[in-house]
Amino acid sequence: MKKKKILLTIVASLALGISIVVPAAHNGIGSRAGGGGVAECESGHHHGNHYLGNAPTCVEAGNAEFWACCTCLRQYLTNPGGTFVDQGAYAGDALASTHIAYLAPTGVHSYTNYVVTNPTTDTEGSATAECDHGCGASVTYSILRRPANVKITENVLSWNAVTGAESYKAFLGSTEIYASTALYYTLSEAQLKAFAFDGTNITVRGVTSNAGYYEDPSGTVLTKSGPTPGANTGADFNYDFERTSIKLEANNTFSRFPYGNYSDKNGGVGGWYYIAQDGANNTALKIPAVVWWPGNTTMKKAVTGGAGEIGEYEISFDIKASEASLTLNNGGGGYGTIKGYMWDTGFHGLTVAGTGINFSDAGLVVKDISGISTTAYTNVRLRYTLTAESVDKFNTFNLTYWPEGGIGEDNYIWVDNIQVFKVVDGIVGTTNVDSAGQGDLEGEDFGFTDNLANNRWYNGRTILIEESSTGSEIITEANNRFLKVYCKNNNVAFDLFGNVPEMKKAGIYKFSFKIKAGTTYQKGGIDVIGFKNGGTLFNWFGMSFDEVNTETWTTATGYFYNPGSSDMTYLNVFININNNDGRASSDPNNYLLFDDFSLQRLTYGG
Ligand SMILES: [Zn+2]
Ligand SMILES: [Zn+2]
Ligand SMILES: [Zn+2]
Repeated sequence: MKKKKILLTIVASLALGISIVVPAAHNGIGSRAGGGGVAECESGHHHGNHYLGNAPTCVEAGNAEFWACCTCLRQYLTNPGGTFVDQGAYAGDALASTHIAYLAPTGVHSYTNYVVTNPTTDTEGSATAECDHGCGASVTYSILRRPANVKITENVLSWNAVTGAESYKAFLGSTEIYASTALYYTLSEAQLKAFAFDGTNITVRGVTSNAGYYEDPSGTVLTKSGPTPGANTGADFNYDFERTSIKLEANNTFSRFPYGNYSDKNGGVGGWYYIAQDGANNTALKIPAVVWWPGNTTMKKAVTGGAGEIGEYEISFDIKASEASLTLNNGGGGYGTIKGYMWDTGFHGLTVAGTGINFSDAGLVVKDISGISTTAYTNVRLRYTLTAESVDKFNTFNLTYWPEGGIGEDNYIWVDNIQVFKVVDGIVGTTNVDSAGQGDLEGEDFGFTDNLANNRWYNGRTILIEESSTGSEIITEANNRFLKVYCKNNNVAFDLFGNVPEMKKAGIYKFSFKIKAGTTYQKGGIDVIGFKNGGTLFNWFGMSFDEVNTETWTTATGYFYNPGSSDMTYLNVFININNNDGRASSDPNNYLLFDDFSLQRLTYGG
């Protein structure tokens, strides 16, 4: 090798027309002060070799780039000018430590090939490597435990703290999406969809600056498989159509649907009552005597607007008795009694109109109410006077049924058609001034009637029938209630009442229902769209009817991303059936049956 380089040097020199003699023994290397008193070449007239550097390692010396003149035998760290042949990295005999380009061994080992023992959530792992230069040196580091309880709740990725971790990193696939100290990270829509729909795994690991630790090359891996569905957000909204009444239980909030303007916010001492059908096509309040003093069952209805201004008013309602309410007593007191009062932020007493009886204290004994019956309603009138307006003119009409014995569900009264009339100069008006409305419990919010008309909520504030599905029915068959939708148009639509507090929360949701078809139903598809105030909340497409049949129920399931909406005030889950031939409504077998709707938010991992 060396000889060849020399020959090349000679050839190069000859090519330049210069005749020189090269000292073959040492290529000019190793001398600095000149060999045997050779004078340094004139500036710019050196002839020799140019060598690139070699990095020193932990145990081996290296060299810097240098120029070696074969004429004057001098060495240079910068090109002194002349004719030098590039020789690449220096590969000759080891340079003496006194050589100008000599670089001493670093003593610093290089570790790049680690053998990793993975940690678990309970035990730390380790990483061991031997020096890349084969010097025999090795290192061993610990690896932090992997985070436990990695999960996605709503749209938030969270995990448990790891002993020794100073911060955490989260990855979507190989892309780092989080690096900070908190134990949670809110996923973007794109990130959550990539995880839930595209199946890109999420990995979370702890990080420490502790020199004794090696960063986990992986971490706790969360996959989209096996999510846990939460409670059916429609559970309170009769999504299975089974309920024919709404039970109002103490919940200490005015905001919870489907209570509408009815609440039993009674400080936890209350019993419960119902919005229920008392017969064909009439819904009323059923107030059972299920709690006795100091608890009680108090019906509370919001009374607002024109009924909350300064002035005198008459409350009208209809009452019907149960057998027990007319016959049971405690042997020492009176029969079952109704009492009540108005309340805004203060108490307003009521009197029984025309009698002066204090309805707050004495009340009315049910069996003594004029015309009281178990088969027909009779009317009761109460008076109250407001001397100041409350905030938002909001008042609550409170009506308590005191049983005086016979505690239980069988001892109840029915109340219906609550209205408020203004009394001016002793004359009782005929216009209901209660802006809260819903005093008759029908239609808009509570009606349980089975004849579904257009654009009204039915079945316990569950289902809104659109124009296109007018004539649909709730069917009771073999102890199961379900919805029958006639498909007389190309697109037939109805709505489910959305659970606003729950659907405000972002996340991946599962929507499912059971479906069965009439014998002439033309297969199409179904869109599910969430309409809220201000726009569309979510949009799930794509159910096909290939498996729907006329004999047995099929369960349809779809998943969608809900971005959440903090300012949502209502949500209609709009279900649009694409029926492709639009046959006439006279075809009695062109229908779809629906039952057991379910809308659940998914949790992953944990
Ligand atoms: Zn020279
Ligand atoms: Zn080494
Ligand atoms: Zn009614």
